[in-house]
Amino acid sequence: MSRWDSPLAIDVESNGLQWTVGPFPGLPAAMRFVSEHLGDTDRYRHHYRPLTAPDEAATRLHHSAGGLFHTPSRHQREPLEVDLRAAIACHHGDPGEDPHSDGLYAHLDLHRPWHLDLADPECWEHDCEHPRHPDGTCTIPTHHVVLCRHCTPTDTTSGGESAGDPYPECHVTWPCSPVLALCASFGITPPGTAQPHQESNP
Ligand SMILES: [Zn+2]
Ligand SMILES: [Zn+2]
Repeated sequence: MSRWDSPLAIDVESNGLQWTVGPFPGLPAAMRFVSEHLGDTDRYRHHYRPLTAPDEAATRLHHSAGGLFHTPSRHQREPLEVDLRAAIACHHGDPGEDPHSDGLYAHLDLHRPWHLDLADPECWEHDCEHPRHPDGTCTIPTHHVVLCRHCTPTDTTSGGESAGDPYPECHVTWPCSPVLALCASFGITPPGTAQPHQESNP
């Protein structure tokens, strides 16, 4: 399927406001909408955004099927996430039962822990003075960090090897302040650090 006959949405911007209109069944329908409602004024800026059906996205993203980004799954939630979800369920209901609790679950899902093994940039770039393995790589082990997946900005501009990596200048440790705010509201004491876990089948 091409963009011509696959579903898409239109992002419309004006005066700092942005909203997404759709889905449209394909480009012709979306273009018709633009010419009827947007094209007769220079007030709006728009672009087309391809949409992927949930079933197709699930296949593409699923880790055991290779996944688009070859990411191992988180095979368990952190104990703190489990406690927070239980507290939300106790006060407001299980997922899907209540808009209020769903808002909180969605917030928690955004601010989920991100386990990473990081090397110092100099070691990664072979610029350090540390002892070397026979293949030239640094022998200093990587260190494990747990960052917030949402709060920690990632490199989306430089391209190349560091694309998608967290900026070293802005590592936001998980639990981040939004998660800590939830903890405070529900009277949950966060542990000192998140529990490291072993990745299976990376
Ligand atoms: Zn966060
Ligand atoms: Zn090194």
